[in-house]
Amino acid sequence: MLEVLQALFWAIFGVAIDKLWDSYGKKSIIKVRKNYIQQKKSSLYKGSRCIEYVKMYYKDCEKNQLAVCRLGQVNITIPFLTLPEWKGLSVDLLRNKNVLKYVETNVCDYPINNKEIKIRQSIGQKLFDDPSLFLHRVNLEGNKICFEVGEYNYFKRLSFFSDFENETYLCAVRGKKRKAKLRDRYLPSAREAASRGDNIIPIGCDTAVVIKRKGEYYVALHYRSSQTANYSSSAMVVPSFGFGSIKNIKGNPLLFSFLKEYSEELFNREEVETIGEHSDPEWFVNQFVEIQDIIKLIKQNEFYFTLLGCGFDPIGGFFNLSTVAIIDNEEISEKVFENCVGNWETDRNLSKTIGFVPLFGKEIERLALELKAAPSTLYTLSCVQNYVKSNVYLSRESAYMGVDIGASSVKVCITKGSGSIQKTSFPTPTKANDFIAELATILKEATQSTSVNVVGMAFAIPGRVDNNTCAILSVPNISWLTNSVISSCEEYFHCKIAVINDANAGAYYEKGYGCLKGIKHAIYLSMGTGVGGCAVCNGQLDFGAHGQAGEFGHIIICSDGKKCSCGQYGCWETYFSTKAILEKLKLIPIADENISLEYVAQMLRKKDEHYIKMFDEFLKYYEIGIINLMQIYDPEVICLGGGLVQAFPEIKTNTEVIISKMNKKANVFLAEHDKYSCAMGAADYLADSIKRNAYM
Ligand SMILES: [Zn+2]
Repeated sequence: MLEVLQALFWAIFGVAIDKLWDSYGKKSIIKVRKNYIQQKKSSLYKGSRCIEYVKMYYKDCEKNQLAVCRLGQVNITIPFLTLPEWKGLSVDLLRNKNVLKYVETNVCDYPINNKEIKIRQSIGQKLFDDPSLFLHRVNLEGNKICFEVGEYNYFKRLSFFSDFENETYLCAVRGKKRKAKLRDRYLPSAREAASRGDNIIPIGCDTAVVIKRKGEYYVALHYRSSQTANYSSSAMVVPSFGFGSIKNIKGNPLLFSFLKEYSEELFNREEVETIGEHSDPEWFVNQFVEIQDIIKLIKQNEFYFTLLGCGFDPIGGFFNLSTVAIIDNEEISEKVFENCVGNWETDRNLSKTIGFVPLFGKEIERLALELKAAPSTLYTLSCVQNYVKSNVYLSRESAYMGVDIGASSVKVCITKGSGSIQKTSFPTPTKANDFIAELATILKEATQSTSVNVVGMAFAIPGRVDNNTCAILSVPNISWLTNSVISSCEEYFHCKIAVINDANAGAYYEKGYGCLKGIKHAIYLSMGTGVGGCAVCNGQLDFGAHGQAGEFGHIIICSDGKKCSCGQYGCWETYFSTKAILEKLKLIPIADENISLEYVAQMLRKKDEHYIKMFDEFLKYYEIGIINLMQIYDPEVICLGGGLVQAFPEIKTNTEVIISKMNKKANVFLAEHDKYSCAMGAADYLADSIKRNAYM
């Protein structure tokens, strides 16, 4: 009897408890849990804590695996794990078909968290079965990254995300031992898995949208909405998206996914949340027109979308691409400026949701440092400044590094706008690696001690260069200086490196700062071991069709003459150059073994007859060369530079005499002979090339 009563009591009481639980308990527990997680999420994203967190889970995370970025003058270390071999790779996702491979699959290794799905359904969250892009495999083919992506339904994707997020916060809060099953299973191997292709990883993308207004570049920033999973209450990120909603897309799904999402974001059309809403014909037509507009811009090179880097975001639990979308067309930029609303992550309750901040300057640094930006966003932002084309490099924040690589020393200067801001030199190393290491140190110091951003490098080399391709053709005196070293430097420093012949760099210096400034027709002659130079025609330095003009040392002044290192016979420099003079002296029996130009100059000043006679002989050959050049170019100015002129400045007077004997007119100046003139000239050359869009 008692048992029956007991059973009856528990049956009634149990049902009551169940009912109570269903109507109050469950909801409040869900609410409490949600708030708790939200709180922990916010605290997780506070700068250094975030980095520590990554380190905790990546024991092998060496310092160099954290991406160190530069935003203006600020260095930022971010826990965005970019694979080392991908560093510096830049891939145009839109135009390079090899970059993307689309696979059709329905296989997903991630467990489905039915409990979480039920909770979401119970609080009225919509789950739709719209397929989105998942990453299956990443391959490196040469210097190209190839992504294999396939579609997977949103339902499972959500399931993975929610599990992963919860685990992430609980791990961070309670220590790694508890509740770390999912993480232990997936996180340590996720990066490798992406390369091996034995797993499928959600793929996300942070894209900085850069627009151009009145010649200046601006980047879109927005505040995250509170409903955004990972970054509640944090601010300042560039628009980002998972490659979702790709239903019925043929061709390049990444391109379409990108354009579709961006046309919505950029042109202020509300994103549609269910398939049904897509059936509005007007909506489709508008989108189609906008996408066509963007494709037109892509073809005109006025819109480009570049992959800056990618890596596994251990906090978000997905593979993230950092990209930049740059719109050079000012008309479309204006449209974007007026209409841009951001995406579902944007907090539309804040009055200034989307702001366009100048890409260069203090504001962007302040935002990056003071506000909680996602790691991958910081990475993207810090990269963007190096990827914007054309005149943005000429803004006051940008600087150029000129590197004059001589046989005995390397001279480095950093210049911006008008003049140099830092100069330094080091003995020419015997190995390429030492050279790169020295440059890296200089660059680091410059970044810390000055307020500029070095956006490019130019090497002045004592050898022949093809100016069109920047390829080194020959460098007789420095064996390690090869094209592959240039490639290594480009990879290491993440920038295109311009290469210029050192005499041409000298001419650039004179044109920018010295006696050729503002001159329309001139000859720059660099006389040292060899003789080189450059003509200024109509105010422009003339490098010729292949960058081979101005090889004045190899004009032939004597048929059947001496054999030259270039293979010709009777070249000017075999008769008049430092090398020619020293070789001649070796034939003369003299007491001093260490014969040098200075010694010869001394003897001339002492009016030593023997040396005067010998030097007059050299000057005869010099005269032939100068007469030829005067006849060809008819310059206003002849600028004389190089070691030989430094030792014998009287050559200036000799030149004036030659010109007056010809009954012609031209002013003769000595080059300024700043130790750093070639380095500065190279930097100027780079600035000019960028202006002409020859690089980047
Ligand atoms: Zn020659």
